[in-house]
Amino acid sequence: MTTSHPTGSLTPTFRDAWSAAEGAARAAAFFREAFDAEPDGVWAAPGRVNLIGEHVDYNGGPCLPIALPHRTYVALRRRHDDAVRLSSALAPDTVWTSPLAGIAPGAVSGWVAYAVGPAWSLGQSGHALGGFDAVDDTCVPLGSGLSSSAAIECAVAAGLSDLFGLGLTDDDAGRAALAAACVRAENEVAGAPTGGMDQAASLRATEGHALLLDTRDSSVRQIPFDLASHGLELLVVNTRAPHALVDGQYAARRSACHAAAARLGVATLGEVTDAAAALAALDDDVERRRVRHVLTEIGRVREFVALLEAGRLREVGPILDASHASLRDDYEVSCPELDVAVGSAREAGAIGARMTGGGFGGSAIALIEAGTATEVARAVATAFAAAGFREPEFLIALAGPPAGRVHTGEER
Ligand code: ADP
Ligand code: MG
Repeated sequence: MTTSHPTGSLTPTFRDAWSAAEGAARAAAFFREAFDAEPDGVWAAPGRVNLIGEHVDYNGGPCLPIALPHRTYVALRRRHDDAVRLSSALAPDTVWTSPLAGIAPGAVSGWVAYAVGPAWSLGQSGHALGGFDAVDDTCVPLGSGLSSSAAIECAVAAGLSDLFGLGLTDDDAGRAALAAACVRAENEVAGAPTGGMDQAASLRATEGHALLLDTRDSSVRQIPFDLASHGLELLVVNTRAPHALVDGQYAARRSACHAAAARLGVATLGEVTDAAAALAALDDDVERRRVRHVLTEIGRVREFVALLEAGRLREVGPILDASHASLRDDYEVSCPELDVAVGSAREAGAIGARMTGGGFGGSAIALIEAGTATEVARAVATAFAAAGFREPEFLIALAGPPAGRVHTGEER
């Protein structure tokens, strides 16, 4: 018997991560082509998925991202003058050139701002840098809620730290300083008002662990996150939904939270100790729902971490589902593509699923039984086709290593 559906036989598209050697070789080859010279080295920094704790990083709450095996690779060579030259696989035929002092808020825009912004913020922190040549290439999907922006910033920042002997990749305190510089670059040079989760994940996560980041004081705790030993996998659905409204909506949610915190007499919503009293004190329905999302989400991070630490990873499904409902109904940052991704993944057997990242498009995660990724992905892709959405792509997430130098064995 044959069954037919609108798109014929659907083979879901998976985006595989490059190995470190592959990424390093690509970046080094691209560097040789662009600058006719050997790079001093190649550095890589990962994108991330946040397991739980969404839209809390700018509210002083906890979040729990993992570093993806998908990384951005940057080949760098130190110069003996103050020139900066940059080429990107995003725009391979152009070389952007500027004196180091020409990198500043308002002076650079577009993708260049993400790539060289950290050179400005490291300088602002008092670190002495000189000129450099750089190229980048990436297997992190761009603009998909998986933090390609932090990946490029953190790869460049880690590379500059090593090239100029800043020593900031050596320990977690240095990495926290690098992350802060990258956040500042994203906020002030690229002009994106994001919180600190993405850069912390990219620089401070460790392999096999989720990073519990307390955004009140930027302290971290490594929580073992071993999917395989529980017979599980984490499927990422990149909805590839166009998301033109993101910037304004993100800023609007952020300022709504800050206004509510001010009304409640706390510096951030993360400081609220009596959630019921806080919600009762707010009389605007929309504001109450925004705050309810943040407060309940903070509670979900705590429950999730407690289950992980008790070796009960299989029991987190309902927490993922509740997070999605809260982001959809109270915070109103989901979209039809994300809702279909989550719903169809669950129908196909996922243990739990939710949108991840800022929302309005971007990606969803589904916790699934090991070995069922193709089947669940096919169900999601079929549901997307039936709804008339763009074809999604899929990634398999594992808790990968943080930003650092990588080797091909060929670069000098
Ligand atoms: P996300 O971080 O979820 O991928 P953002 O909108 O925050 O989405 O960041 C995407 C932007 O970051 C891209 O449009 C581009 O400007 C910049 N960017 C990402 N990766 C690179 C890269 N490898 N080289 C240069 N710029 C990049
Ligand atoms: Mg980003």
